[in-house]
Amino acid sequence: MSEELSGVAAAPGVVAGPVRRVVEPVTDLGPPTRVEDAKAEAETARAALADVQMLFEKRATGANSQEVADILSAQAMMAGDPVLWDNISGAIDEGLPAPHAVARAFASFKTALEQVGGYVGDRAGDLDAISARVVAVLLGAPVADLPVSSEPYVLVARDLAPADTAQLNPAVVLALVTREGGPTSHTAIIARSFGIPAVVACSRAEEISDGESVVVDGDRGIVVRSPDDAHLAEVERRAEWLTRARRESHGPGRTSDSHGVPLLANVGNAAEAEAAAKDSEGIGLFRTEFLFLDRSEEPSINEQVEAYVSVFNALGERKVVLRTLDAGADKPLKWLDLGGEMNPALGVRGLRTARVRPDVLEHQLIAVARAAKATAAKVWVMAPMVSTAAEAAEFVGLAHDQGLTRAGVMVEVPALALCAGDVARVVDFFSIGTNDLSQYVSASDRTIGALSDLLDHWQPAVVRLIREVAKGARVGGIPVGVCGESASDPLFALVLVGLGISTLSMAPAGLPLVRASLRAHSFEDCKRMAKLALTASDAVEARASVAESVHIPIG
Ligand code: PEP
Ligand code: MG
Repeated sequence: MSEELSGVAAAPGVVAGPVRRVVEPVTDLGPPTRVEDAKAEAETARAALADVQMLFEKRATGANSQEVADILSAQAMMAGDPVLWDNISGAIDEGLPAPHAVARAFASFKTALEQVGGYVGDRAGDLDAISARVVAVLLGAPVADLPVSSEPYVLVARDLAPADTAQLNPAVVLALVTREGGPTSHTAIIARSFGIPAVVACSRAEEISDGESVVVDGDRGIVVRSPDDAHLAEVERRAEWLTRARRESHGPGRTSDSHGVPLLANVGNAAEAEAAAKDSEGIGLFRTEFLFLDRSEEPSINEQVEAYVSVFNALGERKVVLRTLDAGADKPLKWLDLGGEMNPALGVRGLRTARVRPDVLEHQLIAVARAAKATAAKVWVMAPMVSTAAEAAEFVGLAHDQGLTRAGVMVEVPALALCAGDVARVVDFFSIGTNDLSQYVSASDRTIGALSDLLDHWQPAVVRLIREVAKGARVGGIPVGVCGESASDPLFALVLVGLGISTLSMAPAGLPLVRASLRAHSFEDCKRMAKLALTASDAVEARASVAESVHIPIG
């Protein structure tokens, strides 16, 4: 008998395949027995730590991105931390066996990091992966790790950390299913970049066992256990369509009746911009944080100019929407002291950092203007986390003063969305950041998987706010794009166009399906879908009613 488990649709597509589970760490060590030979026990612990440290160093060298390499190197360093070792050997001297001593020392190290908060606090979770591995080595238990298989499989896990994804081989991983995580979580982002389906926040994922066969439906957010023939035939039909759509979808974004919807890419550096240039009409979100984070001082104007020029040049004469620094709160800057905050997501982040250091924004705008002058790209500039028309006007004034003629704001704060008509009079464009807009309108932390149903972009409150912003933009005669993850949902993209959104920007892997989805529907169809989403009583009904009325097997 087949059975459906529901979760949250995090990356589109549908596949069938056998499950391989991530081996979960040993958590129950049982009561400790008193150690007689503390010296020998300490030696065993030290050898296990050294093994694990070496393994993380090796993985850092072979990592598939600098970001992951940095995380793995940091984990290797943590495994060799002398203070941590003092605590472990102290606990062994007290008579604790090595596994218990290791688990206790790592747990208190983790608490200490969590109390620091911010980026350091976020890294505290990485200690679990190191601790679990050392404990497993000591117990001779299976190591909490990704499965090793050369046969294609569906990966099922409680959650995936960046360090886990360093080992993922896109050639054999068919889909991702996790119990934790939300639509903007690391798992979702990785799945979309691999172009494989993902279902996250699947609360019953624990019940799926290794080796059983499942269907993962990343469009509907469903995992089917023991799929029957009808399910498998449906998978085949949709998979065929998706493969064809991915292969054949090229060119500008437009509906079947030629209503143009430029399809743009979200990028964070020149390498991503070069890759995105192959299949997009421009860049709709250039995140500039990479230049500013993890350094001890502000990058010089010249250094910024060089970095921006390389991104702009990748796009030739196309449009690039650059977002000014979105730091603060969970992305602290060593050289920008904002003090401690009780609610970082509601604190001094995005444009608000310019209240503390207006010079940093000014330098960035000078650099953007210089880079724009030196290249042929059509450069637009926008600020993140803007709350009022006055803030918007001030930012636009500063950008215009530098000669940047197209200056706008991201709409991520509900207060700004509700006043869109007034704001539209003082800016050149809007770009809706639905990741943060959903977080703030539902008062739900976007990093907490258990809240992903509230964060869903199909929630009526989100759809209605987008309608308000589109209305405001129309009155003000300015364009309005969407650059949050919701733009890459091929069903929701139709709703967005129907609501009056003029451009869609997303991770490049999402472009082909969104393009195919638009081409299969008319502008009138899109307006009809927008109405369905606007009148639904909840997110599930909104999605289902739109899915029922599409002409292609994407819903
Ligand atoms: C958003 O909030 O939707 C967005 C695109 O910005 P980020 O995800 O970088 O916060
Ligand atoms: Mg945002």
